[in-house]
Amino acid sequence: MSDVIKLMPDSLANQIAAGEVIQRPASVLKELVENSVDAGASKITVNIKDAGRTLIQVIDNGCGMSVTDARMSFERHATSKLTKAEDLFCIYTKGFRGEALASIAAVAEVELKTRRVDDAIGTDVIINGSKFVSQTPVNTPQGTNFAIKSLFFNVPARRKFLKSNSTELQHIITEFQRIVLTHPMIEFSLYHNENAIYILPKGSLKQRIIGVFGKSLNSEIIPVEIDTSIVKITGFTGKPSSSKRRNDKQFFFVNNRYMKNSYFHKAVALAYDKLTLPDCIPPYFLYLEVDPHTIDVNVHPAKTEINFENASDIFRLLQAGIKETLSKSDVTPAIDFDNQEAANIPYFRSDSPLPEEPQIDYDPNYNPFISTEKPQSFESLGVNGGSYGHGSAHRTTQYDSAINSGRKRADNWQLLYSNINDDSPSPTPVQSPLMQIGGKYIASLHDNGLMLIDQYRAHLRILYEKYLRQIASNADATQQLLYPQPLDLDAKSLAMAYDIRDELMSVGFDIDFPSPTATATLRGIPPFLEQNKAIDVLIKVIDSYRDEHGNISSSMKDILARSAARSEAVMGGRSLSNEEMQTLRDDLLATQQPEFSPDGRKTTIILRPEDLEKMFN
Ligand code: ADP
Ligand code: MG
Repeated sequence: MSDVIKLMPDSLANQIAAGEVIQRPASVLKELVENSVDAGASKITVNIKDAGRTLIQVIDNGCGMSVTDARMSFERHATSKLTKAEDLFCIYTKGFRGEALASIAAVAEVELKTRRVDDAIGTDVIINGSKFVSQTPVNTPQGTNFAIKSLFFNVPARRKFLKSNSTELQHIITEFQRIVLTHPMIEFSLYHNENAIYILPKGSLKQRIIGVFGKSLNSEIIPVEIDTSIVKITGFTGKPSSSKRRNDKQFFFVNNRYMKNSYFHKAVALAYDKLTLPDCIPPYFLYLEVDPHTIDVNVHPAKTEINFENASDIFRLLQAGIKETLSKSDVTPAIDFDNQEAANIPYFRSDSPLPEEPQIDYDPNYNPFISTEKPQSFESLGVNGGSYGHGSAHRTTQYDSAINSGRKRADNWQLLYSNINDDSPSPTPVQSPLMQIGGKYIASLHDNGLMLIDQYRAHLRILYEKYLRQIASNADATQQLLYPQPLDLDAKSLAMAYDIRDELMSVGFDIDFPSPTATATLRGIPPFLEQNKAIDVLIKVIDSYRDEHGNISSSMKDILARSAARSEAVMGGRSLSNEEMQTLRDDLLATQQPEFSPDGRKTTIILRPEDLEKMFN
């Protein structure tokens, strides 16, 4: 067998943006695993120690290298994959720069053992910080085994720049996912400190997706098949009901290579418009195949953005294609904006006394401008015992007074009219008529103006402050669970949870972690949380922490209160009775910061007569 490596022409070398190939352990993993894929391996094993600081080892059963190639492979611009410049614009092969190994060897201690199938004996090359140390014959299985030790040992600035182990591990897992999702026919495994994070046998694409993201996706994704002359799109997309507010399961690949594409993401999001809650998106795994000459591959190794000649056509095809896929597979909208939320999530907590319908003989939602449905009675909201947590005497009192004052005012319409004409300040507490608009907003008279309340955000603010008080008065107490529960977290969330375990403990989450990667067990929860909500809240806490990492302004207590509020608050799209609207408004106005939701978004808009005058102009 002849040697296969050729030197890249200089002209081409200059075409390649000189960039930093290796930024962190995850970049080493990416380069080595892509090389193993290119070498035709059917099995690739990755061993990581200390998030890659100590060891990144990639073992494959691919074609292996000759004695000369093994030595040559570390030369800058050494590649067996490229002879002409125009190949640069094709991305059918993974690596083509011929500088990955040279770059890695410059900043680490590298040992390469490799043997081709027909060679009786393999070769072992050791290089430290670009310095050749030794090359000796070795007994080694067919294929290639790269061990990268002490990454950045000679670049202290880079070493210091590395983030916490859990963050680096998350980057590693991200790179790994992007590669394994494009090669379901290759068997992959990933170990961290000898714990298996992934063991992925070869199989179908669907089996691979489920292997990476868990069995729950099995019933949630539907196949996509869009075939046109400019693009072929295959893969899977989630049912609307699988959508989440925050998600890291959206993947685009072009010609079997991962890409970021916020423009195409928008096309998919549009296909789900009105089928999911706002800002929520299902998982998707979409594989685009296009003529390589119609895309502009940025050759910078760190970039994952790609420009498409036919971007706007592909946008339309994606949007229409996904829409059609959904309609064909007969998935119903995630939320029926009129019913579902109302049936499942009562606004009032269960331990408030079951309210009676007020004995008033007018329709409190009556609005002369639009015809609305009659408000639902509490019975029909399914308020029941047991599952919705601790209420407060405070709420009950307000609730009572809201009903009583509702009785006093029989003619809403006249009141609305007279308040607007009356220059004197409104009586306190304000007991003006309330209207629900579009199932999401509450309109109320306020200070001689019209106040519009976003009901979801208002509810968030109310719950957030309530939970903050409860957390403050019960700091670091924990309620032990009778039956500890296994925590079914994905690998990244688990690594993050492990990293912040002390902080989680400080707010009452007692979690047993055998290691950063083995399944954890939830043993105790903050006392104010409902047991059946605890895991949902914990996941939200971990996600928020991840999103806000490095933002010192939010404490763990704050994050917990916000997450618990998000888990409990009633989304828009649910019709509220007059009493519920009054309670919501009064409770909101009684909070410390009624104008903003806990994440800093507006809860209310006030239109004064002056504002209206301008609008009528
Ligand atoms: P490129 O992948 O762009 O060619 P690299 O620096 O990543 O550049 O690798 C240089 C060369 O080393 C490759 O072209 C290939 O010939 C050889 N090589 C690297 N890794 C492997 C491997 N796992 N198995 C076989 N050959 C490999
Ligand atoms: Mg390569």
